[in-house]
Amino acid sequence: MAEKMKLAIIRGATCSGCDVEIVDINERLVEVLGIADIVYAAVIMDTKHSELEAMADGSIDITFYHGAVRDSENEHLAKIARKKSKTLIAFGSCAVYGGIPGLANVTNKEEIFKVAYQDTPSTVNPDFVVPLPEWKDERGHVLTLPRFYDDVFSLDDFVEVDYYLPGCPPLVTQINQALDVIVSGELPPKGKVLASEKTLCDECKREKSENMRIEKICRPHEIEPDPEKCLLEQGIICLGPATRAGCEAKCIEANMPCRGCLGATAAAIDQGGSILSAIASILDITDKESQMSEEDIYKLVSQIKDPLGTFYRFSMPKSLLRRTKKELEKEKV
Ligand code: SF4
Ligand code: SF4
Ligand code: SF4
Repeated sequence: MAEKMKLAIIRGATCSGCDVEIVDINERLVEVLGIADIVYAAVIMDTKHSELEAMADGSIDITFYHGAVRDSENEHLAKIARKKSKTLIAFGSCAVYGGIPGLANVTNKEEIFKVAYQDTPSTVNPDFVVPLPEWKDERGHVLTLPRFYDDVFSLDDFVEVDYYLPGCPPLVTQINQALDVIVSGELPPKGKVLASEKTLCDECKREKSENMRIEKICRPHEIEPDPEKCLLEQGIICLGPATRAGCEAKCIEANMPCRGCLGATAAAIDQGGSILSAIASILDITDKESQMSEEDIYKLVSQIKDPLGTFYRFSMPKSLLRRTKKELEKEKV
């Protein structure tokens, strides 16, 4: 009998939705367990970091790392994961792009701690005591906590990643396709994103006009969208044109716009920039630029609520922006 593969699931700054989606592959788990031993997976086994650290370098065949890198413990685990694994897969959009936690790059550690430990109505902390990375008790025992970073990072900001499986979380169909590739042993060239090269619009079955134009933007709850027609054409911001295909247009099927969880397409560097340019063209801003006043353009664009959160919801740390405020503050100094 062929030797079983060794598999690990390692958690960074994660909401655990990725863990849940792995379990959601249901009976496929039995097949996986038939060909692979799970040697480390904090969510399902009582495993300690020290056990992972004690494993021989390169002894794990495949490691899925999910979650962003937000503190020193995430960074440490990312580096250990790299050292111990033959193949390291960034699993989920937090690991691939920094994901939703990456939106915290609009602020910094000091402000986050202030809100969490001082300003919230449920917090009584008049002396503004915050968690310290190191603390010595009265008997001289040193207690440590991970250091919280100012920025949120993607996995490949710290270590080389072999494959990327985006999605928030990656859907069961995507996980199964990745497993098919792993089981077949025919892995693609390193560095590849294990998802379609097309845009979600290519995969979406809704009717769309050749020369789409809109004059008003609405939020999903403000209208009852026609389930056959393109949502963007009905004025709802849908990130389909700027998002990688691979989810079988799940949200669109539920008559909800795409929020972009699979990240930028293969052709785009910056998902937010890419959707902004698509929206500018359908809002008629580019064509009519000379006829529209700045005020008109401002009025039109300000119909988009929370543009940063809408356009960079999953990809801020990997975007051309990477973060916002800190750079501005630096300029002010
Ligand atoms: S990718 Fe989504 S589901 Fe996975 S850890 Fe990040 S936020 Fe959670
Ligand atoms: S914009 Fe959205 S609704 Fe329209 S075709 Fe693309 S994915 Fe479908
Ligand atoms: S439709 Fe968009 S947000 Fe929804 S699962 Fe697909 S890529 Fe993610």
